[in-house]
Amino acid sequence: NDSLMEELVGLCKRRGFIFPSSEIYGGYNGFYDYGPLGVELRNNIKNAWWRDFVQRRDDVVGLDSSIIMHPRIWKASGHVDGFSDPMVDCKESKRRYRADQLFSAPVVLDGEPCGYIAYVEGADEASIIKQAKKLRDLLDRKQSKLDEAQLLNSATEFTEVDEVVREKTLGPDAAKIGTLTAPREFKLMFETKVGPLADDSAVAYLRPETAQGIFANYKNVVDTGRVKIPFGIAQIGKAFRNEITPRNFIFRSREFEQMEIEYFIAPEADWKQLHREWLDLCIDWLVSIGLPRESITEDVHPQEKLAFYSQATTDLMFHFPHGEQELWGIACRSDYDLKQHQEHSGKSMEIFDEASKSKFVPHVIEPSLGVDRTLLAVLTAAYCEDEVPNDKGKVETRTLLKFSPRVAPYKAAVFPLLKNKPELVERAEALYKKLQRRWNVFYDASGAIGRRYRRQDEIGTPFGITIDFDTIEKDGTVTLRDRDTCEQRRVSEDELIDFLEEQIEG
Ligand code: ATP
Repeated sequence: NDSLMEELVGLCKRRGFIFPSSEIYGGYNGFYDYGPLGVELRNNIKNAWWRDFVQRRDDVVGLDSSIIMHPRIWKASGHVDGFSDPMVDCKESKRRYRADQLFSAPVVLDGEPCGYIAYVEGADEASIIKQAKKLRDLLDRKQSKLDEAQLLNSATEFTEVDEVVREKTLGPDAAKIGTLTAPREFKLMFETKVGPLADDSAVAYLRPETAQGIFANYKNVVDTGRVKIPFGIAQIGKAFRNEITPRNFIFRSREFEQMEIEYFIAPEADWKQLHREWLDLCIDWLVSIGLPRESITEDVHPQEKLAFYSQATTDLMFHFPHGEQELWGIACRSDYDLKQHQEHSGKSMEIFDEASKSKFVPHVIEPSLGVDRTLLAVLTAAYCEDEVPNDKGKVETRTLLKFSPRVAPYKAAVFPLLKNKPELVERAEALYKKLQRRWNVFYDASGAIGRRYRRQDEIGTPFGITIDFDTIEKDGTVTLRDRDTCEQRRVSEDELIDFLEEQIEG
């Protein structure tokens, strides 16, 4: 819901996770900057992915290809000719919309449709009705004989039909809406020029996906001799799309990052089975970084919506604050991309498979995930409010981010109980330094201990470690506090390290 998104945006700004880009100049639509905590969260997500899908597997290797590549790559991939979205302009507001995010609704008065209005995907009922009223006013000015009663009547009728038309995207119907232009194709690739020449031969593109860098290097990787079918090449990196309507915070931006794998398989392999296996692996991974299993669903693309070369595509959907939306696309792309590059480059993309003693151009399964969307999903799943007793035993509401220790920006925070007792401070600093050698940990000596806990709860630090008089005078144990349950127990330093290791590294 809208208010959850607002809370997240506010918290992200306030605590230094995410800032609007170029904010001192009023911001820049579709671009975001990651602050001190955001960059940690982001890196932890990327590292977890890299560890699980590259380093912990024998059959996947990594790659880091350039962002700007030879423009012929984008010709071969089909992006130069086909990578666009249908766009319409609103003649009144001069705003641009993606046609497939616009919906049309007939406004009914006296049982007769008197016009159409367009509304943006996800628009709430009240704003649609407001728009319908605007249309009524327009008709009024043209001396139509509508009165308030009719208007209310129309609003009700309108709401009734709304459910039906909400399912239909506007598409070519845009022309029916007086204030919208007919749809036209809008190119999504950012163009730039490379080298001193100013003519068309210098045109190059910022990559709109990392996948083509993998296909372009497939031969190089095969020639290193380290891989045999089936194998994958993985890449994490920035991608750029001139989205017509960047929206919903970091869900759809113009500069974002992807984590993609091309998994190369034999043409006769059981791709349906492998596709299922990849889907399950991807779901398990999302759960491992803290998304509840029940918040993930599968959207199987119907045959008629698939690109001609695609055998199957299933999107993993997540329940974002603005609704259930695509998080991870897992596609079976046949041998289309490699064959395209074989044709356009004139270089053979065949591989010799020792096992079957045969030569072929492999097929691929492509799991493609956005870093930023994952981060938004992690934030959404982690955000909650609950009620806990404060220092004085009074119940208070706290905001907390229940990050899994794997991705939490800070793994633990170390506190001396009092900051004016040098023995406590010294001991706490020593433990902090020791932990800091292995993990990103936080040190905080100022303020009431309850307030210090609260500050860490809000940024999702899973464990609080307090050094008190028992630590220095008795047995050396420290207090270990759990963020979610607020439970505290005493542990020795050795126990503490073992515990953190297990929680963070799994
Ligand atoms: P959408 O339909 O939402 O535009 P898509 O189907 O075009 O997405 P893909 O081309 O399959 O997306 O990209 C793979 C993944 O990259 C997506 O699942 C998403 O996680 C991420 N992604 C794509 N576009 C954006 C964007 N503009 N901002 C942030 N992440 C994106």
